[in-house]
Amino acid sequence: MDTRSLAVDVRAPSGLGRFGEYGGRFVPESLIAACEEVEHAFRDAWADPLFHGQLDRLLAVYAGRPTALTPAWRLSAELGITLLLKREDLAHTGSHKINNVLGQALLAKRMGKQRLIAETGAGQHGVATATAAALLGMSATVFMGERDIERQELNVFRMRMLGAEVVPVGSGSRTLKDACSEALRHWVSSVEDGYYCLGSVMGPHPYPWLVREFQRVIGDEARTQCATELRTATPDFVVACVGGGSNAAGTFAGFVDTPARLIGVEPEGGAAINSGLPGILHGFRTKVLQDEHGQISEAHSIAAGLDYPGVGPEHAYLADLGRAEYFTVSDAEVLDAVRRLAKAEGILCALESAHAVAWVLRAVEDGEIPAGSTVLLTLSGRGDKDMHTLMELS
Ligand SMILES: *Cc1c(COP(=O)(O)O)cnc(C)c1O
Repeated sequence: MDTRSLAVDVRAPSGLGRFGEYGGRFVPESLIAACEEVEHAFRDAWADPLFHGQLDRLLAVYAGRPTALTPAWRLSAELGITLLLKREDLAHTGSHKINNVLGQALLAKRMGKQRLIAETGAGQHGVATATAAALLGMSATVFMGERDIERQELNVFRMRMLGAEVVPVGSGSRTLKDACSEALRHWVSSVEDGYYCLGSVMGPHPYPWLVREFQRVIGDEARTQCATELRTATPDFVVACVGGGSNAAGTFAGFVDTPARLIGVEPEGGAAINSGLPGILHGFRTKVLQDEHGQISEAHSIAAGLDYPGVGPEHAYLADLGRAEYFTVSDAEVLDAVRRLAKAEGILCALESAHAVAWVLRAVEDGEIPAGSTVLLTLSGRGDKDMHTLMELS
């Protein structure tokens, strides 16, 4: 495959925001102008060294970037490979989500908006949005399914401590997909001063592209750090977990023009790429979990952050092209991976991130990753939020 031409293709989607047959902008008439406003503002900001200066400074002095690249010494020795961990768990608020929200909050300010609107499932994106709003003196309105509010009490409390308004959503399955619909509806009625701060590489154009660009700092840093650590710029495998797909997209962006095998890991119960069919969800076309009538199915994963029935359009496209490969792991494998990483390296990672670890453990065992390989794995977040789940299961 000619990865160079592909890299160009993937770098910016077509004018319509398409990644192949995926992506696009399937929103009510009333939101077309709002999406265009965001797109123009982003193109303008992304070409402005002043904006990059502001963002880079916040990422450095507030979010704690660059995050470390840690060789997993003991696990590498056990597995017979060189495993490098990109430590997004060390970023402020405990995951990669801060990269995206700082970018979008700065963009919103530049657009003269005072209020961030967001959806959240597990609450991690809500917390990151509330954090950015507090930092920049803005207000935040976060939509969250009633069931998720019950399940994620602590994050609801965190958001309120940070000054955000959390709005319960009681429609449908009362989870993330309903919160997304409600946030979009709310945006329609408040486009004047409201900015929709989307949490992953999803939604109508330009969000999948814009969020990937804000997350590419993961891949760009890792590429430079790998060059130092490995003395060759590129690992053989680049692995990340996939919910909506933002930490994976940001990581892949740094390596899409190299020969590295790009691997996304989905939860067995929420495998939109492996088990979904093309459909339209929350303003964009992608692979979606659905029943035979086209009704959206619910995703189930031990990691609340991966419970989404769709996936970012760029991943659906990369999968069709064969440029990235997507595998699934079970909840049991994930639990085993969390424990193994904790004991071997002293790192308690998020259950989401442990999906990537679980795949590496299995792939070494079954020979998919040959002995002596170099593997870069993005550890998307820390596990503190999951201790309750782990306690109940042990
Ligand atoms: C939200 C979250 C994810 C899933 O989101 P992506 O957009 O797929 O990256 C993964 N890991 C952690 C720690 C998260 O908080």
